[in-house]
Amino acid sequence: MKVQTLKQAEQLLQERHLCDACLGRLFRQEIKEGSNAEKGRFIKKQLHNTEKITSNDCWLCGGLIDEIPHFVDLITKTLKEYEFETFLVGSKIDEDIQEKEQQLWTQLSLEDAEPIKMEINREIGKILEPQLGKTVDIPNPDIMAVIDTVYDIVTLQIISLFIYGRYKKLQRGIPQTKWPCQICFGKGCKRCNYTGKLYEITVEELVAQKSLEHTKGTDESFHGSGREDIDALMLGTGRPFVLEIKNPKKRSINLKDLEKETNLATKNLVEITSLRFSNREEIARIKAAEFRKTYRVTLEAAQPLNKEKLIKVAQTLQGKLIKQLTPTRVAHRRANKVRERLIYNCVIESVEGIIARLVLETESGTYVKEFVSGDDDKTRPNLSELIGIPCKVIELDVIDVKGE
Ligand SMILES: [Zn+2]
Ligand SMILES: [Zn+2]
Repeated sequence: MKVQTLKQAEQLLQERHLCDACLGRLFRQEIKEGSNAEKGRFIKKQLHNTEKITSNDCWLCGGLIDEIPHFVDLITKTLKEYEFETFLVGSKIDEDIQEKEQQLWTQLSLEDAEPIKMEINREIGKILEPQLGKTVDIPNPDIMAVIDTVYDIVTLQIISLFIYGRYKKLQRGIPQTKWPCQICFGKGCKRCNYTGKLYEITVEELVAQKSLEHTKGTDESFHGSGREDIDALMLGTGRPFVLEIKNPKKRSINLKDLEKETNLATKNLVEITSLRFSNREEIARIKAAEFRKTYRVTLEAAQPLNKEKLIKVAQTLQGKLIKQLTPTRVAHRRANKVRERLIYNCVIESVEGIIARLVLETESGTYVKEFVSGDDDKTRPNLSELIGIPCKVIELDVIDVKGE
């Protein structure tokens, strides 16, 4: 140790009572080995300073350092119900202590002194690691425990659990995600029968219910790769989604069991497959992914249809580029602009009088109902103009979402 440092320490100890840890922390750069308390003891020994100063008498921490085992207990109790592999400890420290600390740094011209907060966090982590059999992870902990050292309160920040899957929607009239009641905005009113919801059931809630039970999460968020219309079925291999479970207590859940239980409970409404654990990054990926969609369309025409004519028109649609101005029905929530979309394929399945069924494969984001009706010529070319008879979609199902 530098003589200069020893002199500084000696003078400091004449002015103030400092516990070993608080002294050692100030000069920790000067001594290689040991904890801050050990460093402090070493300095005091060098100075032949035998005065016993407990943490309680310490001018700086006023006993805070000795409370570490108590904080460890509080955090351990709070974490008990939660399953995690990695963790991190944070703390809130009395402002008085932080101000005194600053005062000392200025007095001693210390530029990179360690704040007491860091010592508290690190020391708690060091005790908890072997005790819990878990690892401290600074950039990406599963769970972060913040101890308020003034009020003895532990708050947890828990990383969400993400589950990827694909869903099929087997009944019409179910929206993909929750919508708050448009009258009361979720508070509950007469109109929504005090549910606060616009729709009684949603794909989101049907898919999430068992997941919330298995993980004991507090809330969820559903991220679909696009969405079908409320009155459309979603068939085939299903649509990719990522379900985000917030504040899960359990993480190591059995996804096979979850899938089975969910499908049993949501029978004839929704079916999920291909569950696996996922992450936040995947949400962006499935949201941005441009998956080709295949639809089964049932349309109704204003006059009886001619099957040969319809088949001929369908053939000209292979690889056809269409232009769609934002449809009237979504104009309130989408920018008004022209979108170019490709029709990959169109196959006529059946024609009976004014009803026809066809399978349409389109680029992601195509407004299929408008492609059939023309939407007052906002979509061109459109099927109605190509066959020369006004038509409209009466049933629309997604039968496949390509990609992945
Ligand atoms: Zn102290
Ligand atoms: Zn309401």
